[in-house]
Parts: sequence; structure tokens; C-alpha cells
Amino acid sequence: MDAALPQIAAFVLAWGALWGSFLNVVVYRVPRGLSVVRPRSRCPTCERPITAWQNVPILSWAALAGRCFHCKTPISWRYPVVEAVVAALTLAVVWPWLPAWLEGDLAPWQAGVVVGGELAFAYALVAIALIDADTFLVPDALSLPLVLMGLALAFAVGDLRGVPWVQAGSGALAGGIGLFTLQWTYARATGREGLGTGDIKLLAAIGATLGLRALPAVLLLAALQGLLFALGFHAATRGRAVAERGLASVRHLAVPFGPFLALGALQWLLLHRMFDARVQAWLGSV
Ligand SMILES: [Zn+2]
Repeated sequence: MDAALPQIAAFVLAWGALWGSFLNVVVYRVPRGLSVVRPRSRCPTCERPITAWQNVPILSWAALAGRCFHCKTPISWRYPVVEAVVAALTLAVVWPWLPAWLEGDLAPWQAGVVVGGELAFAYALVAIALIDADTFLVPDALSLPLVLMGLALAFAVGDLRGVPWVQAGSGALAGGIGLFTLQWTYARATGREGLGTGDIKLLAAIGATLGLRALPAVLLLAALQGLLFALGFHAATRGRAVAERGLASVRHLAVPFGPFLALGALQWLLLHRMFDARVQAWLGSV
């Protein structure tokens, strides 16, 4: 089995990069109400179709030096970065399940459902984060199916993943109701909407997939990293914002929360097993 691991890792990375390429299409088309399947991608400037060899993840962008083959319009560096990040994310999601999968501890259908479900969750979070960063909206078309998928995963492979249906159901409810309460309180206290209803559906999806016990850590990670980003962003743009819009602009930092919820959820998904083991070791030694 060990001899095959590098080949498996290379295959998983390539597979992940293809999904990253597809997510770039999703992020561009879903907010515009376009089909993610057809037609094939075109250059938005010269409208010539992008051929297969111009569409190889990461490599084509590098080979074309970040420009359209025909009209030389620059192609955003975000495309290859998303492809590379999603490739690495795919390997990170698949890796913990590989030993049990290869040694036959998991039935093929169980491995397929567990890995497929966690990958679908991770990919949807990446798309949601980028769309929210672009448009300040979390699309229902991505967040609501994720709630159902989280509950379905709990029924199918909940014990394997450590998220039985009680955790998933209470997580979905707490995510939805908890954030709704927070939003209502914030709106009452400040007279403005701090969190969108899209964030509520997103947190319900995270609760359904990762379970109730993940929510405090996910919210804390999201809030801390969102705050750090907002402060850094604010420090970098303060002079300009104050000059343009006056001091009032400083008080409200307009940063979407969805990308940080997605980030916190991905961090929990990838790291909680390590964290759990440490807490258990610590509890065992007390
Ligand atoms: Zn072009």
C-alpha cells in the first residue's frame, strides 16, 4: 500500500485541480444566473471559446503567461490560485480516510459516501466564500442543499464520521436559530443588519455537516479571523476611507462574514481529529 501512496496523492491532486477549475466556473456563473454546465467557457473579452489545452488547471495559465491566447486580455491570478488551493484541499480531505479505505476497513460504498460527502461540503464552502466575497451574498442554491446533504450524511455514515444524526440535527437547528438570534439582537441594538440571512443558512449547513459540538469553535475561528482581516483591511485603507466618507465609515467595517464561516468550518473539518486526540490525551492524563 505504501508504495502506491505517491501515485494516489498525485492523482488526488490532479482530480482536485479539475474541481478547482469547475469551481471557478461556478463562482463566475451562479451569481449571474447562468448554467454551470453549458456553454463551454469563453474569454469574456473576445468571446472565443477556451479550448481544452488552454483549460488545463494551473499549467495553462502559466503557459499563457496569464493572458487570453487570442486577444491577450489578462486572466485573473485568482483562477490558478483557486485551482491550486482546491487541489491541496482535496488531498487534505481525502488523506485521513485513505488508510481505512485501502486496507478495507471501510466498505467501498462507505468510503465513497464519506469522502464524496466531505469533498462536496468543502467545494461548496469554497464556492460560497468566493461568491460572498465578490457579491456580499450567500446563494441559497448552494447553502440549502448543503443542509440536506449534511443530514443525509449523518444518517448514512454518521457513526463513521463522528457526527451522528442527533449532532447533525441539533447542529442545523442551533446554527440556524443561534445566528438568527444574534442577527436580531445586533439589528435591534445598532439599527442595521450585521449578518445576512445567507449567513444563517450557511451556519445551519455547517451545523448539519460538522455537528452541534463543532459550532462554538467554528464561530470563534470565524469571528477572530474575520476581525483580524477587518482590522488589517481597515489599517490598509483607513486614510482613504476617512478622506472619502468621513469618520463614520471607520465604525462599520464592511467585510462579508460568509468567507470566514467557510474558513472556520474547513479548519474544523481538517484539524478537529488532531485536536480531539490532544484533548482526549490531556483528559486521560488528568
Ligand atoms: Zn480573449
